[in-house]
Amino acid sequence: MMLAASQVKQQTFRRTKIICTIGPASENPDCIRELIREGMSVARINFSHCKYDEALERVRMLREARKDLDVPLAIMLDTKGPEVRMFGYSKPVLLAKDDTLYIESTDKQPEDVAALPPEKKHFFTNLPHIDKLCQAGSRVLLQDGFIEAEVMRLHTEWPGAVTVRVLNYGRLKDKAHLAVPGADYPIPFMSDKDRKDIAFAVENNFEYIALSFVRTARDIADVKELVRSVRPDSPIRLIAKIEDKQAIANIYDIIRDSDGIMIARGDLGIEVPIEELPGLQKNIIKRCYLAGKPVIVATQMLESMTDRPYPTRAEVTDTANAVMELTSAVMLSGETANGVHPARVVNMMGRIIDRAESAIDYRALARITHDYVDRDNITNIMAYSVVDAGHDWNAKAIAVVTASGIGARALSKFRPSIPIYAFAHEEVLYHQMALNWGVVPFLIENPEGQRFSEVAKKTMELLRGKGAVSNGDRLVFMASSPFGKGHPTNTIRCEIVGDDAFHDET
Ligand code: PGA
Ligand code: MN
Repeated sequence: MMLAASQVKQQTFRRTKIICTIGPASENPDCIRELIREGMSVARINFSHCKYDEALERVRMLREARKDLDVPLAIMLDTKGPEVRMFGYSKPVLLAKDDTLYIESTDKQPEDVAALPPEKKHFFTNLPHIDKLCQAGSRVLLQDGFIEAEVMRLHTEWPGAVTVRVLNYGRLKDKAHLAVPGADYPIPFMSDKDRKDIAFAVENNFEYIALSFVRTARDIADVKELVRSVRPDSPIRLIAKIEDKQAIANIYDIIRDSDGIMIARGDLGIEVPIEELPGLQKNIIKRCYLAGKPVIVATQMLESMTDRPYPTRAEVTDTANAVMELTSAVMLSGETANGVHPARVVNMMGRIIDRAESAIDYRALARITHDYVDRDNITNIMAYSVVDAGHDWNAKAIAVVTASGIGARALSKFRPSIPIYAFAHEEVLYHQMALNWGVVPFLIENPEGQRFSEVAKKTMELLRGKGAVSNGDRLVFMASSPFGKGHPTNTIRCEIVGDDAFHDET
């Protein structure tokens, strides 16, 4: 069934964006359209569980849907990253309290290790030299943290192995995740698979790559080099996933060198004490938006809706809090990838966001962010003034013509109460800006060579045609003219929508 653009639900203006993971439950054209209608701005494909032909089919469906519905939608590839696993068993193993397990490091692939009978409790891990990373009494977490174990002893006669005692009952699934919390794992940041997947994202023009387990700024530099080697002028943007202690230690450098951050609470909650999460989340969100970078809060946001009709009270409050902390986006994982009703979850998330956003005092916030204007950056200085003028003049919206996205992101940094209508002529940028807080992207023809007032007038007409503004509404424009010359922002202009706008210029 084809849907016209007019069938996209007219919602109240929503500043915080929703990312949906596309998986078996949502990889069909009807579901994707429903997700978009409910407010999906970014579609994520998780390469921990996806083959190239499946990914290409999902990308094809997503592109078709965003075109038919005439909406911006960014497509994000999420890498597998350096995962630590347990293997050497052919079916799930039940573990009881006080069971003793032998865990042995191996450089063999899971497929090449012969499965031992489960009663032997002898397992393998791809983590090199596990005995060097822990000592008697260290904690080891299995199965995404669901099973806790304690190291009993190291084997001098058997290097590369540890004996652990299980502390609670649990079921070890196939290739279960293993963690030695706090350890710096001696595993390269990118595997051969990650390299291939990153090249795949560049070659197939994904808008974003989310990089699992970024640990240092060096990791990001390595990915940038790889991206350049595949396509020197690739516009793809890199989101660093913060999932362990090392990334937390290097957070400022990582924010500086990446195009955005994902607070990957799933793995982070295993690698650092779980009670650290709320404070880390709050700080990282603030650091990111003051640096003008998008930030995503991920994992278990509405987890119980994976198979239930309503979220828990705690989940509703968690999502609302992330919005009130001014995150750029909230993410759904299993809820939309494997859940029983993906669109219903997005609808619920949208309702929570809209209500939480209505409780924020944006003007008070803008006054605080004044202290964070980058005084060496004229675009930043002008963006602050535009937001200030928009608030003081009771403008309906801000309009920015942007060839690189810099202007739109600078405006987003100051978290205005009114929409940032961002006009780009590059399709990739148009879709990328779907992730940015408060930004509503539009696609226009290349304005190069045209006068500022000509282009601004056209954007005003476009907004009027779409019903986004009407006669009498106040608009604050921001641009760098002449267009296409790489100038920093140099123009702010206030206009009242109507046939007389820009009358002195035409
Ligand atoms: P993942 O990343 O879902 O790819 O593991 C997010 C997280 O760890 O929270
Ligand atoms: Mn993760």
